[in-house]
Amino acid sequence: MQIVRRIVKRCPSCGSTGLYYEAGMITGQKYHCRKCNYIGPLVFEEEVEERLKPGDSGKHGSGFP
Ligand SMILES: [Zn+2]
Repeated sequence: MQIVRRIVKRCPSCGSTGLYYEAGMITGQKYHCRKCNYIGPLVFEEEVEERLKPGDSGKHGSGFP
């Protein structure tokens, strides 16, 4: 079993991880929370460990034509 670590970004307002990155032209980089509509450059970063199941790497059964 393989364990990978990755950083997830968390909304400082509602704690949701449903953030997406928004690049502004003048205002610079921002994050946008799709749950509470928070927009701003500050987000919480959290390191999580993910276990990859053997045989599950590189193959995605759904969402691929
Ligand atoms: Zn939020």
